[in-house]
Amino acid sequence: MKRNRLSTKELIEGIQSGNRVVLSRAITLVESQQPGDIQQAEELLEAILPLTGNSFRLGITGVPGVGKSTFIESFGTLLTEKGKKLAVLTIDPSSQRSKGSILGDKTRMEELSRNPHAFIRPSASGSTLGGVSGKTREVMLLCEAAGYDFIIIETVGVGQSETHVHGMVDFFLLLMLAGAGDELQGIKKGIMEMADAVVINKADGDNIKAAKRAKVEYQNALHLFPANPSGWIPQVKTCSSLDKSGLEDVFQMLLKFQEQVRVNGYFDKNRSDQQVSWFKENLNELLKISFFRKPEVKKLYEQKLKEVQEGKIPALNAAHEVINAI
Ligand code: GDP
Repeated sequence: MKRNRLSTKELIEGIQSGNRVVLSRAITLVESQQPGDIQQAEELLEAILPLTGNSFRLGITGVPGVGKSTFIESFGTLLTEKGKKLAVLTIDPSSQRSKGSILGDKTRMEELSRNPHAFIRPSASGSTLGGVSGKTREVMLLCEAAGYDFIIIETVGVGQSETHVHGMVDFFLLLMLAGAGDELQGIKKGIMEMADAVVINKADGDNIKAAKRAKVEYQNALHLFPANPSGWIPQVKTCSSLDKSGLEDVFQMLLKFQEQVRVNGYFDKNRSDQQVSWFKENLNELLKISFFRKPEVKKLYEQKLKEVQEGKIPALNAAHEVINAI
């Protein structure tokens, strides 16, 4: 049965009053590809814009098994105990390609999902039109309008979505393990370079010593990277998401970061730069889509594709011919 469509006014009122069902429906609307939905989604996003921007946006990444969901469960609970309202958006790069998902095949963050001050929502990483970034930013804005003052965006650290997440958060946290080498953990150097903090998880039991050693190693490694434009020196911390040690330290670090980048102006500048990049990305994407939708392009494209396949024309020339024909 198709549910009645809520008016934009009803959506806004529901979001503002903290109604999670309405928030969920607003998210579904914003993620929709239907032309009618896109128009209403844009209306909604414009209307809620003044209510957005007031959260701290935290990106968390790390390879499967490092303890992301356990960390978010424990750290998120700590945040709610401090009176914060927390939204967790998980980006799962595998969910588009296969039905099986890295993140979704087990019950994750069970405690947090029952917490009235937390809202958890998986976020598709790609649109059907070939984009890689999906609508996570817009979903984030909806959550901010709903009064969530802490947004965690979680992604699997296997390389595809980190740059995108880095481009939409205030602070990028990389979870790591002691003992295994970076290569073993599949963390690319580029991801390390983006990190504002490396947090070594599972620093408990027999693992404490190794975690402390790893902390020194990562501190040394981070020193070799170019200075961060925020003026912030990336930190290395250890924690245990199981026994909850070190989490307060991570929280204090975030407060310190926030204070520093607000004072030096980076916080606002970064947000503004991120908006500009997002505008350009969207424009690029939309240009591409509208270009390929043109019937004359479709026809010429197919023709040139065949010629390239058969080796009749250089690829560059073929691309120029398609563009020049329009
Ligand atoms: P994810 O795939 O990165 O989300 O990792 P999970 O949160 O599912 O954790 C993977 C496994 O590591 C689970 O069996 C957790 O219980 C375990 N784990 C997570 N955090 C810790 C920790 O701080 N200490 C210990 N000893 N185990 C942990």
